[in-house]
Amino acid sequence: MEDFAHFTAQQARRVRYVLCDIDDTLTTAGKLTARAYAALWALAQAGLRVIPVTGRPAGWCDLIARQWPVYAVIGENGAFVYEVHAGRRTAFIHPSVAGGDIQGRLAAVRDACLAGVPGCRVAGDQFARIYDLAIDFAEEEPRLGLEAARRIRDICQTMGARAKISSIHVNAWYGDYDKVGMAKLYLTQQAGEADPRDSVLFFGDSPNDEPMFAYFPMSCAVANIRPFAADLAHLPAYVTCRESGEGFADAVDRLLALRRE
Ligand SMILES: [Mg+2]
Repeated sequence: MEDFAHFTAQQARRVRYVLCDIDDTLTTAGKLTARAYAALWALAQAGLRVIPVTGRPAGWCDLIARQWPVYAVIGENGAFVYEVHAGRRTAFIHPSVAGGDIQGRLAAVRDACLAGVPGCRVAGDQFARIYDLAIDFAEEEPRLGLEAARRIRDICQTMGARAKISSIHVNAWYGDYDKVGMAKLYLTQQAGEADPRDSVLFFGDSPNDEPMFAYFPMSCAVANIRPFAADLAHLPAYVTCRESGEGFADAVDRLLALRRE
């Protein structure tokens, strides 16, 4: 990982899309700071297409698509993309989202996790979800640590679900999609990008962003990635000096300054 100060003006001019994780990348200690939110506005006003890519629920993404300065939002770990264009909020659902009694299957996974890992709980934002289950291990107290998160993930996978550990939740779902799969599908099929790797700069902060770091050559982590770096097979190309929203806003300032050169 190189310091983002080494990102070049030539690279900066190629960027048309800024994709970013939300929790602990845009947010700092759980809050979207004024400076990080202003950075999103600065990107939009510079004509860049901002697309948050998050495990957060459909209900939150509806708000983000409508009220934040974004081009689109990818939510529930790639289940859907919401956009507001021409006065309508539309949804592009991943073709492999499971049909049938999805809620019944996820309820069985929920019960197995709650029984198998003492102290874990259904995430506070579960009521706003459509396609996945989120088990909270570190968003609220008591914070359980990574070992509990791995046990939750293993229970989900034993029951045939896909599962990913974020910095706060373990998300589980049925369907052959994830953040990077949906990002590729949306950008090529819906946005008409021949090769999204040429035009995307991605920001993330944790191991669940690793497939995005692996796919996008222009990728940057905020500094709180550092404790996880030894566990990652695919590191981001760049890293910021500061953590979370401050690191993101610093990088946006740098990106926009380079494009003005
Ligand atoms: Mg994150």
